Amino acid sequence: MTTTLDAPPLGPLLDDIVRTHRPRQEGGHTPANIPFLSTIPYDRFGIAVATTSGDVFSSGDAGVAFSIQSISKVFTLALALQGGNPEALWQRVLREPSGTSFNSLVQLEAELGIPRNPFINAGALVVTDHLMQVTSDAAAQVLRFLTEQAGAAEPGSGSGSGTPYIDEAAAAGELARSSRNLALAHFLKDFGNLAAPAESVVENYVRQCSIMMTCSDLARAALFLARDGQGSRGAVLSRSQAKRIGSIMLTCGMYDAAGEFAYRVGLPGKSGVGGGILVVVPGVCTICVWSPRLDAKGNSLAGTAALADLCEQTGWSVF
Ligand code: GLU
Repeated sequence: MTTTLDAPPLGPLLDDIVRTHRPRQEGGHTPANIPFLSTIPYDRFGIAVATTSGDVFSSGDAGVAFSIQSISKVFTLALALQGGNPEALWQRVLREPSGTSFNSLVQLEAELGIPRNPFINAGALVVTDHLMQVTSDAAAQVLRFLTEQAGAAEPGSGSGSGTPYIDEAAAAGELARSSRNLALAHFLKDFGNLAAPAESVVENYVRQCSIMMTCSDLARAALFLARDGQGSRGAVLSRSQAKRIGSIMLTCGMYDAAGEFAYRVGLPGKSGVGGGILVVVPGVCTICVWSPRLDAKGNSLAGTAALADLCEQTGWSVF
C-alpha cells in the first residue's frame, strides 16, 4: 500500500491537519468516571505518523503526554497472546463486535460471563486476568512493553522525564469511581471467568488505562502491528497474530461506532476515552491522534474528523 501520488508531503500535511481540525470551540464531553480528564484544555490536538521505515512525522501537541485509557487494551492483548496459550484466552473471550456500550453489564450476564471481545471492558478484564497469571503486576508489564516498543530506555516516573508513565493520581481517582468495572469483574468471577480477585484485576486494569504517553511514542510503540509483528527489538508477535489484532481493531476498536469509523476512515483503529485514537496502516505506518473532547459514542470528535481527512488525502485504507 502506498500514498496516492498527488498526496502532499507528510510534514506539511500534518501541520495542515492540525490547523484544520484543532477544536476552536468547546464541544463534546469527557467521561464522568475519570475526573482529571475534564481538566485537560479542550483545544489540545496532536497527531503523529510513524512509518514502517523508521521515520516519525508529527504536529501540534504530539509531544504532550495524554492518558491512553482503552488504547492500552491493544497492548495488553498483544502481551497476553505473546505469553503463550492463546487458545486458553480465546475460550474466555470472543471476537465479535458487541453492539453495546463498552462497559455494559447486561450483555455479560445474558451471555454467561463470556465477553464479546477483548476491547470492551469485560473482555479487557479477562485479558488482564490472563496476563496476571504470568505476572501479578500486569500494569507494570504493559508499561514496560510500551516503553520498550516506543524506544525509550526505562519507564518514566511522571516527573516530566518524557517517557511513558502511570499517572497514579488519575488511577486513584478512577479507582474511587470503579463500581461499574468492579461489577463487571464480579460477574466474570461468578461465571468462573476470572482467576485473580476481582479487586486486583480492576486495579491492574485501571492502572494500565492510566498510562501517559505522547502521540509520537504511541505511534512508534504500535509499529509492530504495521510490520507483521516485528517490533523495535525484534519479533513481538507472529504475522498472523498481528493481523488478527488488526482485525479485532477494525471490527471492535471504536466502541459502538466501529462501522461508522470503518466507513469514514477505512483502517483498524482503537480509541480511548482520554481522546486518543491509534490507527494501523498495514505495511505503511501507524497514526496516533489526540484531542480530548469525545462524541456520544466515546470517540475523539476532532481526532476522528482528522483521521478521515488524512486518510482521504493520502489514500491510506485497507480497502
Ligand atoms: N478506564 C476507562 C474505563 O474503564 C477506559 C475506558 C475507555 O477508554 O474506553 O471506563
